[in-house]
Amino acid sequence: MTKKAFDVDAFRRALLAWYDANRRDLAWRRTDDPYEVWVSEVMLQQTQVSRVTEYWPRFLERFPTLSALAEASLDDVLAAWSGLGYYRRARSLHAAARVLVDRFDGKVPESAHELRELPGMGEYTCAAVASIAFGEDVAVVDANVVRVLARLTALAADPSRGEARRAIRSEATRLLDASRPGDFNQAMMELGALVCTPAAPRCDACPVAAGCVALERGDPEGYPISSGATGTVELREVVVVAIREGEVLLVRGGHERGWWEGLWTLPRSPLSETDDPREIARSLVVDRLGLGCESLEGPTEATYGVTKHRVTMSAFLARGTSGSCDGDAGKTVDFRWVAIPDLDRVGIPAPDRRAIEELAGGETSSAPSTTLAAVELEGPAGHSPST
Ligand code: SF4
Repeated sequence: MTKKAFDVDAFRRALLAWYDANRRDLAWRRTDDPYEVWVSEVMLQQTQVSRVTEYWPRFLERFPTLSALAEASLDDVLAAWSGLGYYRRARSLHAAARVLVDRFDGKVPESAHELRELPGMGEYTCAAVASIAFGEDVAVVDANVVRVLARLTALAADPSRGEARRAIRSEATRLLDASRPGDFNQAMMELGALVCTPAAPRCDACPVAAGCVALERGDPEGYPISSGATGTVELREVVVVAIREGEVLLVRGGHERGWWEGLWTLPRSPLSETDDPREIARSLVVDRLGLGCESLEGPTEATYGVTKHRVTMSAFLARGTSGSCDGDAGKTVDFRWVAIPDLDRVGIPAPDRRAIEELAGGETSSAPSTTLAAVELEGPAGHSPST
């Protein structure tokens, strides 16, 4: 790794002084409770700070302790997580809480090494929790830190790969201030979030500009170097908001890509370039779900992202549906009719929730008939209603 000669102590002092004066006043920075720090760090992975600001206090209000989280049902945890995305995090958090209560007396382990033994605990989360909650001198490396270090050193290789990746970790460890590891890690991430941004970094306001090789070369935005191959995969799909007496049909399990395991979603079907969305929606409702349908309205279109996929969703409203989901799909996934006012209490992925709000938002006054029992056909998960 190319290094411009600079004083490491001066670097640490400058960075921490800047952090002390400029850090955002985020709620989770006011606690050193390991459980609360842990929840915040899990939420912060791949999620905007503004969303975590909204979800973190609400989640802790619902599950104020590790024990409360461990005792909760997975459905309740997923419902509280609903809208944050990347639901695997919520499932792992819940599983890890149960392990801690069962085998570790309900205490969060103090070292990154021990934390790594828990379900779903990656290198980033372990280092963040251990350094912030317990003061362990272990460096955090997230996308912000990678960008800052790649620019500081003008790293001549793609830092997501092989030797360059190891070089970034080693540099993060070398620079870490062991006297304030939690603050130092947060300062590096904060610098990447506020100053050393992906586009148009504010080098004139950067506390460590004096040691930055990329700036010296006049090309901060040229780093990190990307070797490409991060292509987005475009997908199309149809979803159906099937309404019956003020209730919406939800299904669980069987997404063809394994997404949203444990959550309740709208019935959906993938769409090829040549498929007619309305015809696929009709076929999904009538042929696959085995429902009668008075009218099919829409579509409304929306896009959302899941990992490297960008999905264009065409959503239809199926009014006046009837029948009992006895089509092929009914035999392979769970079904449930949920009264619209009760949807807030169900774990539903954000794109599906938005589709329901858009297409069925005006239906809330239509109370479900008390004579209609909820239909829930149990069956093995892991099959798509579209297959
Ligand atoms: S000087 Fe500019 S490119 Fe270098 S670390 Fe600071 S903000 Fe990033």
